[in-house]
Amino acid sequence: MKFTIHGVRGSVPTPDIGFLKYGGNTSCFEIETSNTQIFCDAGTGFRSAKLLRDKKEVSVFFTHFHHDHIQGFPFNPGLFAKGRQISVSSALCDGKKTRSILESYFSGCFFPINVFASLGHLEVQNFEEMKSSLSGEVEVKFINLEHPGGAVGYSFVSRGKKIVILLDNEFQDFQRDELVKFCKDADLLIWDGMFTEDELQTKAGWGHSSIEQAVEFTEVSDVRKTLICHHAPYRFDSDIDEIRANLALKRIDFGYEAMSFSV
Ligand SMILES: [Zn+2]
Ligand SMILES: [Zn+2]
Repeated sequence: MKFTIHGVRGSVPTPDIGFLKYGGNTSCFEIETSNTQIFCDAGTGFRSAKLLRDKKEVSVFFTHFHHDHIQGFPFNPGLFAKGRQISVSSALCDGKKTRSILESYFSGCFFPINVFASLGHLEVQNFEEMKSSLSGEVEVKFINLEHPGGAVGYSFVSRGKKIVILLDNEFQDFQRDELVKFCKDADLLIWDGMFTEDELQTKAGWGHSSIEQAVEFTEVSDVRKTLICHHAPYRFDSDIDEIRANLALKRIDFGYEAMSFSV
């Protein structure tokens, strides 16, 4: 699998000097296999991702519908080009509800056109339907996370390699065993490291985990590599550099925009 980060910022884009090393676009991750192109979330990072609709079926999985995870969706020009179908789904709710949430955000008083009504090649599916259409190429599973309004994490397995994306999640002790199991043998884990432990003291209930919890979880799990993502919008590059300098970087690091590698 080829893994690419298109957006790694949490909550709101930060296109300002001082944030561009790790990146200002909001959540969007891409997994490419020989026959499919999968996106997990379509924050503003989705805008500049190259859709391979001439060669492959494109699938978009949403972890949830907070605006930083969906707002880039209709800004990718490839969405309006000719090509194969684009399948959209979320394990958070059924296809009908997913479509109704996205359609209300991208129409009416929020958006100039009704994106889903005008593009016939956009197909919103139930999670099980999308999962079975990818089966054989990529095995997709989900897990419910702790987040206001709900969110799901996904695991993607292809040819013996495994990628897990756990955004957005407010880590709780009771989740540890279940998440360790869900991440078993993962080659890559994407972790919600929005806060530091200090910040978490006043941000309980906001739905995010800490950088320190990423370290602790990586130690108790057998994931080969954890990338801390969903960086807070006030976290300057220099702040991340400083925290990074104090991490033992063997199995953990910070994700940045345009990071791309084979898993
Ligand atoms: Zn978020
Ligand atoms: Zn969220």
